[in-house]
Amino acid sequence: MIVDPNVETRPWAEQLAVDDASFREQLAYLLERSGFYREKLAGLEAVGLADIAELPLTDKQEIRATCTPDNPIGAHLCAEASELVRVYSTSGTTGTPSYVPLTAEDLENWIIGSARSYAASGISAGQRIISTYNAGPFVAGAALAGFERLGMCHIPFGTGNTERLVWAVQQLKPEAVVLTPSYAARLAERNAELASSSVERVLVAGEPGGGEPAFRAKLEAGWGARVTEAMGIGDIGVSIWGECDEQDGMHLGARDFVHAELIEPETGVALELDDGATGELVLTHLQHRAAPLLRFRTRDHVEVRTSPCKCGRTSPRVRCIGRTDDMLIVRGVNVFPSAVREVVSEFAPEVSGYILIKPQTAGVKQEPPLPVAVELAPGTTADAAFAEAIREKLRSVLVVQTRVDLVPWGSLRRSEYKSKLVER
Ligand SMILES: [Zn+2]
Repeated sequence: MIVDPNVETRPWAEQLAVDDASFREQLAYLLERSGFYREKLAGLEAVGLADIAELPLTDKQEIRATCTPDNPIGAHLCAEASELVRVYSTSGTTGTPSYVPLTAEDLENWIIGSARSYAASGISAGQRIISTYNAGPFVAGAALAGFERLGMCHIPFGTGNTERLVWAVQQLKPEAVVLTPSYAARLAERNAELASSSVERVLVAGEPGGGEPAFRAKLEAGWGARVTEAMGIGDIGVSIWGECDEQDGMHLGARDFVHAELIEPETGVALELDDGATGELVLTHLQHRAAPLLRFRTRDHVEVRTSPCKCGRTSPRVRCIGRTDDMLIVRGVNVFPSAVREVVSEFAPEVSGYILIKPQTAGVKQEPPLPVAVELAPGTTADAAFAEAIREKLRSVLVVQTRVDLVPWGSLRRSEYKSKLVER
């Protein structure tokens, strides 16, 4: 179901015209109310959306550096304290948490975007959905409000209750579950009965993986359900992107509210959003009030799809390849741990799909061969020729020299939240 057909099927050129007007207003608002951007943009001419690449990028660290005891949120805060209705924290994968304030209007826009993104995955009013996020202080809480907005019955569960969760699936018979791909994989692996449960749709978010074909196929078999993914970033919005039944990348559910760009991560140079293009995703708020961000570097490395989608939604689509922060450079070649997992997973059913990369030195740059532990499937034994076949496949697909160590089934750690693909 398309939540807002007038918006979601609007020709993309028209969308850019609407967004241009919003962007000009947002920029004027920033120059009037944001201490951070007044300083950062000093002397720059106001521009329209077509020239946004002339403006500087915003890095999370820059914002964090402006936090003071008097203003723990940061100098990008534009709204009065009395206008804020919520303050979330980001989970801080790269350091200490930072705060995400929202006005009532911001929160409403987040929920609308989230409802559109998740509705793309085929869930609808009258259905039941079990969620497994311990949302607590984190922005995921706003995503969960999207399910109620769609008219669904939301059954919050959290993690750490695996047995009770499986029992609840059997008793309450939900049509859908929402969880991280890591937890979805772990549950399916240990509970064969899920393959014949009431669950028709498994919605995954929170980390890359749900869009990797081999990993997705394994999840779909384990759950006997269709798997689609969603993605957001705390500082900009929750579930900004959501995948439709075509399973060919996530649509921009938060269109009207967020503008997306692509850059080359090493140089910051803007790239065209062309079909097949890859780069770091950069997002700009278009209608935000509390603490809008301009050209915010998400550190998510994505591949873009712009071909028409059968579902009728007209936004470009993205598939997350990995976090720029997780990227390793092996003799000049960029290597994403999730891409290594994707290649290795093609060797299923002989492999379990779990891998662990063990860099030999600190930092991003690594000398080959890159050590990769590959877990075997139950009942499979290690064999030098098999390790060599995986090594050769990684070399031909990712152009990286690795050392593949086959490890027995069950020896790599499973996660209830996000999988760790690199261990130093
Ligand atoms: Zn679609």
